Amino acid sequence: MREIAVAGAGLVGSMLSVFLARRGYKVTIFERRADFRKSGGYGGRSINLALSSRGLRALALLGLDGKMREKALPMYGRRIHPVAGSEGYMPYGKEGQCIYSVSRSALNQVVLDAAEEAGVQVFFNSKIQQVDLKETQLQVSVDGGPTRVIKPDYLIGSDGAYSAVRAAFLQSDRFNFSQDYIEHGYKELSIPASANGQFQLKQDALHIWPRESFMMIALPNPDASFTCTLFFPFEGATSFAGLKTSDQVKSFFEKTFPDALQLMPDLLNEFHENPSSSLVTVKCYPWVKNRTLLIGDAAHAIVPFYGQGMNAGFEDCRIFNELLEYFKDDWEMVLPEFQRLRKPNADAVARLALDNFIEMRDLVSDPVFQLQKKIESRIHELYPERWTPLYSMVTFSDDINYADAYQTGQRQKQIMAKVLSQPEIAKNWEKLDFLSIAEQLQTP
Ligand SMILES: Cc1cc2nc3c(=O)[nH]c(=O)nc-3n(C[C@H](O)[C@H](O)[C@H](O)COP(=O)(O)OP(=O)(O)OC[C@H]3O[C@@H](n4cnc5c(N)ncnc54)[C@H](O)[C@@H]3O)c2cc1C
Repeated sequence: MREIAVAGAGLVGSMLSVFLARRGYKVTIFERRADFRKSGGYGGRSINLALSSRGLRALALLGLDGKMREKALPMYGRRIHPVAGSEGYMPYGKEGQCIYSVSRSALNQVVLDAAEEAGVQVFFNSKIQQVDLKETQLQVSVDGGPTRVIKPDYLIGSDGAYSAVRAAFLQSDRFNFSQDYIEHGYKELSIPASANGQFQLKQDALHIWPRESFMMIALPNPDASFTCTLFFPFEGATSFAGLKTSDQVKSFFEKTFPDALQLMPDLLNEFHENPSSSLVTVKCYPWVKNRTLLIGDAAHAIVPFYGQGMNAGFEDCRIFNELLEYFKDDWEMVLPEFQRLRKPNADAVARLALDNFIEMRDLVSDPVFQLQKKIESRIHELYPERWTPLYSMVTFSDDINYADAYQTGQRQKQIMAKVLSQPEIAKNWEKLDFLSIAEQLQTP
């Protein structure tokens, strides 16, 4: 039986381990943190995540989607909070289409439990220190104690955006690598349940407070609280660096997020105590060296604005499993084909994620953008075979490649720019010839 070592028991490492163990491999995971199921502390990033079709498809293949849905809250659109005035609503897709707010630790527990049930052995407090790519050999320190040397047949580097396995790739020849931090970081805050245990905002949506150059969002949790994330510049006039004292934080929230402030009794404490974390895009290639593979964030970390990082990582796992099936577990065929297929899609979703930050923090409150969404959803309603809005291709499809979605989205943008430039379009849009607009997408 071939032995596979997996670096990291995060979302992707755990899921891939389930696929591999169920195919009969002997899988061992090395995870640097303690077992969060026992310690109760989950030291990862962001408390909750948006799970959509690509992630759900991979979970469903493993029979884990039902378990997840039980713990997830559907979000059917964005509820938009201006500084003054009433809340707006923008549905994500067709009626009934939704993404799910799930707790990161609950999701990690589902895939990790499934891995153990499938026979995967998991070593916690086991930090990968060094990797020898030529020998496919890793050095792991357990509880900071003496180092163990492991020599598996294959090594999977699913140890996240700051991967130790990738560090070994960096020492090798002809390995391309870039990491780009955006000028914004994020800080998690919260809106608790009301005194009688009710949600204080509508629970059926992702809430956004778009403020042009920054924003705050809130996702619902099953305990009726919301986890808020403030995406905010690190430096500059309006920035984390500029909000040092409690008075500064309070008056900024009073001016900028007055409705949310009413619901955030612990704001000052959380603002001072919770870290301001950075946001990075990592690109690298190749993802395979000899018998070691990078996957998930270790291969392609992206900014979180499309809610796709984990979904893309879960899609990696599904496709890796399909390739094992197709090539009858011949890893010499699977590994190069996997990176060839996935790299253009990882690059595309990285671009989509960066673009979507502008959409979320600024465009959602722009009437022209709102009109564009309305027109596109009408075309989709009338001619679903001919036109699917970009957001739906990325979020509600589980078989359109990210790269194809990106290309089609670029064409749609050009077509819509022409449509929106027509005189009096806001008044006359319902009289448009929707079929001829849809047909333009098919014309090269
Ligand atoms: C603020 C924020 C919000 C996000 N929201 C969404 C969202 O809504 N939807 C979505 O799809 N994605 C989202 N993402 C992205 C998502 O979190 C990642 O894409 C996903 O966690 C990647 O999973 P992974 O298993 O590759 O890496 P990770 O989840 O980072 O797991 C890596 C694991 O490796 C372990 N590890 C690291 N180094 C070592 C070592 N040397 N030895 C042993 N173990 C090690 C870590 O402890 C960890 O357990 C968000 C990310 C952020 C930052």
